[in-house]
Amino acid sequence: MELRSDPITRSWVLVGDQEQNPMPPNDCLLCPGRAPELRMLLELPNPAAAQVRVIPHFHALYRIEGNAERRPDGIYDCMRSVGAHEIVIESRDHGQSLGLMSDDQIERVLQAYALRILDLKGDRRFKYITVFRNNGLLAGAEWDHPYSEIVATTFIPRRIHYELRSAREWYAQRERCVFCDILRQELKQARRIVDMEGDYLAFCPYASRVPFELWVMSRAHNPAFEKPHHDAKRYHLAVLLGRVLRRLQRISQPYHFVLHTSPNIIRQDPALDWLTVEEDFHWHIEILPIVAQQRKSYSIKEVYFNPLLPEQAAERLRQAKPAL
Ligand SMILES: [Zn+2]
Ligand SMILES: [Zn+2]
Ligand SMILES: [Zn+2]
Repeated sequence: MELRSDPITRSWVLVGDQEQNPMPPNDCLLCPGRAPELRMLLELPNPAAAQVRVIPHFHALYRIEGNAERRPDGIYDCMRSVGAHEIVIESRDHGQSLGLMSDDQIERVLQAYALRILDLKGDRRFKYITVFRNNGLLAGAEWDHPYSEIVATTFIPRRIHYELRSAREWYAQRERCVFCDILRQELKQARRIVDMEGDYLAFCPYASRVPFELWVMSRAHNPAFEKPHHDAKRYHLAVLLGRVLRRLQRISQPYHFVLHTSPNIIRQDPALDWLTVEEDFHWHIEILPIVAQQRKSYSIKEVYFNPLLPEQAAERLRQAKPAL
């Protein structure tokens, strides 16, 4: 596989065959003892070690070895698909799900994300680390077992690149973080807020792309998820996330979950790229429910169409009981 850059949009596209390692059918490789030869990528202290394991992906989209070898191909750009692709096995219990875990268990999963992001950011080849979960088969999950994925890339993925660029422009004009501005307005209007806990807030964004889209953020400005403020309690985030996922579960089961944190700026020339990222960017979690009946017509690919007003979505989510 290789990465090719679209010269117009500057998006990177993975092209070529995915390497397929033979896998036993009808067998969950994420259950304890099923893949004993796998290298553990994270050593957590107990009791977290007894719950969360991180392993390389069985058919990784990115290879850890070597350099990207970015090169021209005529007027085009391409590079090797170098990076990391890992699986965070969130629990030993096959039938568990993130939203139904205890607050302590969810906190351990969040801790594993943070530790892996910190470790991968130490690798100077990687410009961005994405953490995501495909919840449910409709969302593209490969196993029923609760797991998330971590991908480290030698480029900044398209969506996050748009966000970083817009946040930088907003800051250049106003010297304010756009995400903090959004939070201020959401708190003031209180029409799209779904839930709060401690320093954390969950709301349906103003221009939600799909029904029941949810964002979870810290109220205090913070660019990097993996480096919480000394007084921020990740436990509160776990409590809020659990409640929000249980509310959502009453309405829609499959969803995509993605964590957007700051890019790996240690390798950037500060004069060139993300000079103000510490001030202008703010980590957040985006939860995008999968809408089965949404037809994927071309118009929907170009412009999102959401038939449900975010204010109504927030109201329904507030009323959905988050009971275990
Ligand atoms: Zn399993
Ligand atoms: Zn902010
Ligand atoms: Zn985002």
